[in-house]
Amino acid sequence: MKQYQLVIIGGGASGLASAVQAQSMGLHEIAILEKLPRIGKKILATGNGHCNLSHENITSDDYYGSIPTKTLQNILSDFGTAEEFFQMMGLYTRTDSAGRIYPYSMTANAVLDAFRLTLEQTQTEIFCNQNVTRLYKKGSLWHILTDEMEFLSKNVIFSAGGHASPKLGTDGTAWKLLESLNISISTPKPILCPLVSDKKQLHSLKGIRIKGNVSLYDKSKLLRTESGEIQFNENNLSGICVFNLSHLVDTGRIQNFSLSIDCIPEDTAENTLDRLYLMQSVRNQADCENMLSGLLVKPMARHILKVCGIRADCPCSMLTDKQLQKISDVIHHVEFPVMNTGTFEQAQSTAGGVKGSALDEHLQVKKNSGLYVIGEAVDIHADCGGYHLHWCWASATRAVKNIVI
Ligand SMILES: Cc1cc2nc3c(=O)[nH]c(=O)nc-3n(C[C@H](O)[C@H](O)[C@H](O)COP(=O)(O)OP(=O)(O)OC[C@H]3O[C@@H](n4cnc5c(N)ncnc54)[C@H](O)[C@@H]3O)c2cc1C
Repeated sequence: MKQYQLVIIGGGASGLASAVQAQSMGLHEIAILEKLPRIGKKILATGNGHCNLSHENITSDDYYGSIPTKTLQNILSDFGTAEEFFQMMGLYTRTDSAGRIYPYSMTANAVLDAFRLTLEQTQTEIFCNQNVTRLYKKGSLWHILTDEMEFLSKNVIFSAGGHASPKLGTDGTAWKLLESLNISISTPKPILCPLVSDKKQLHSLKGIRIKGNVSLYDKSKLLRTESGEIQFNENNLSGICVFNLSHLVDTGRIQNFSLSIDCIPEDTAENTLDRLYLMQSVRNQADCENMLSGLLVKPMARHILKVCGIRADCPCSMLTDKQLQKISDVIHHVEFPVMNTGTFEQAQSTAGGVKGSALDEHLQVKKNSGLYVIGEAVDIHADCGGYHLHWCWASATRAVKNIVI
């Protein structure tokens, strides 16, 4: 049974960053234990294959969860920038107009290659197909057991991720290791996921995408509005703007939640009404559906007419002022009930995890010295835009710095 200075449970984003940082800070005898046949599988799926690895000017305000603000600020400022971190591995980045940072080649492969190539030059031992099933401390040493092997180490980094995207190795079962140590964990919840709505209402909209605003309401209280492309699917709405609202939905009170879509957010209601009058006079031979196609995709035009109680094939010349006003109102507030959040299979991340109160400022478990929790396993989350991966790099760096001292 070999003894290591550091054993890393999980060879995903935060685990690989830990190994690279540990080597660069002079630590030796490092082992990564990964349950899948290869490391970093999830990295390849990120950012639609482009890997949005960070964001410009990240601050603690970009994150939700239970890590105390001061600790979070220190972790982020201590880390520095993702550009510097990746340049250390010979990888250049580029930033898009929205501030999202990607590998220069825009391929997620390049990010995994950067880790792979860096680690190949070091003594880090990578053990794939090793599912860690037991973790306990005896004396000053942690015992880390997989189905086949046992490892000993003074320091352990738990970087086995959350519950989201189980096909990529993270079905949440690894959290049992932490539960067996009575570490305080808040309930996991799928986030950055679609929002389930009424199949019947969505039936005729299935497959369309529109650019607009989407607002989440808790009864009549507006929680948040997001802009972007909204996708209508068989039983849910998706798109980054919808994903960013998903963490605000409380499934225990699901009947209170609804979405309202503004199909022409750049218009005031008055402008839209003017447009409707213009289309009615210019297209006076057309039916209502064709009249509205001057502004909306046809399935959405039909949906809005249905909500207004107007037949799509009714001649538009017959529309009254009151009906045009109603159409204008609905264009700015197309409502859908929220019936559930998407599943962990559909989610990009997990809300919940090891509570901030269970960790010290180095992300070490307060009552289990030598055990650190980083990445998605920590009760911290953010919007889409590179913040999750940035947290992986920053939290890994924080834990390693304390181990190396
Ligand atoms: C489709 C998709 C797209 C995304 N796109 C982005 C993006 O562009 N930008 C962004 O910032 N975030 C993105 N995210 C979120 C981001 O990928 C995660 O937050 C991040 O990968 C979490 O890193 P981690 O190291 O904590 O866990 P993971 O990357 O999930 O790695 C955990 C590793 O631990 C292994 N493991 C689990 N249990 C055990 C065990 N018992 N023993 C041994 N190994 C184990 C797993 O197999 C896995 O390899 C995306 C997520 C998904 C699913």
